[in-house]
Amino acid sequence: MLSTLIYRSHLSDNVPLSSLDKIVQKANKNNQLIGVTGILLFNGTHFFQVLEGPEKAVSTLYEHICRDPRHHNVVELMRDYAPFRRFGNVGMELFSLHEFDKASVLQAVLDKGTSEFLLTWDDRALQFLRTFVESWEKENYFEIPPAGQWEFIATDDLPLSDADFAPGEEISFAFQPIIDPLAGTIVSLEALLRSAQGVSPLDYFASLPREELYRRALALAKELQIDDITFSINLLPMTLVEIPNAVDYLLGEIARHGLVPQQIVVEVTETEVISNIEAFSSALKHLKAAGISLAIDDFGAGSAGLLLLSRVQPEKIKIDRNIISDVHKSGPKQAIVQAIIKCCSSL
Ligand code: MN
Repeated sequence: MLSTLIYRSHLSDNVPLSSLDKIVQKANKNNQLIGVTGILLFNGTHFFQVLEGPEKAVSTLYEHICRDPRHHNVVELMRDYAPFRRFGNVGMELFSLHEFDKASVLQAVLDKGTSEFLLTWDDRALQFLRTFVESWEKENYFEIPPAGQWEFIATDDLPLSDADFAPGEEISFAFQPIIDPLAGTIVSLEALLRSAQGVSPLDYFASLPREELYRRALALAKELQIDDITFSINLLPMTLVEIPNAVDYLLGEIARHGLVPQQIVVEVTETEVISNIEAFSSALKHLKAAGISLAIDDFGAGSAGLLLLSRVQPEKIKIDRNIISDVHKSGPKQAIVQAIIKCCSSL
């Protein structure tokens, strides 16, 4: 199957520009052997490449490209399938943006087109290409510094441990830190259930009396004696609806353990909320009136997503881990995360 893959990357500092021609010559030969077309753009710092060819050859080549130390921050922008190649000449061609003006580069690339239909700027791959040539979206190029420059948050001061806080007890929690990466601080601890018997947390969760669960979580939170950060607890929203006076109960436990409602963030998942949004909205009123914050957990994983945000505007959303993981390598994920951030800022 014929596939198209587009990526961008950043030239490594130690690679001289004079070596580019050699790299391209070698790639040209290799691409001819494996039947791949490469259109490579270079603007002085960043590469942008369109690869077209048999799916397996393109995938294998891309894996190889990702491991090449001569560039970094390799971000896959598009992976698509097409009935025919846009650029039929197998091999690789380089277009240097710092040598020619934008219009002539665009025209030169278009001239390479061999597609059966006229290539137009409506074409999805060409839209990416144009974006790169015109330097649109450049502010969205997130550059991850090398691992040696990463800064880590010291956790020495926090009595955190993944171990059971109360060995022998049936209910135990791990308190997972929630980080503000820009401030470099821990802003919240999320109480995560751990079962001693190795049962899956979900099954374990379902088997326990809820009241007891939250009572234990809050008691442990108090034992940690951290006054200046918030505690997040995961709640099945229907608990708020089904258990009579659930909010009052929660408030009572918060007060009983010397905590204040403003310290508590209740996390619920979007799927659970949307299944009974009327009832949830009314329960939410009581939480908010008492000073408890709401976070939507696993945002983007369920079916509600934007519809939910149109009905309920929580204090926080926690984007689903499937969208976050490997976000540094994926253009689509970066676009989605940016859009979510922009949407939430506007909200
Ligand atoms: Mn959670």
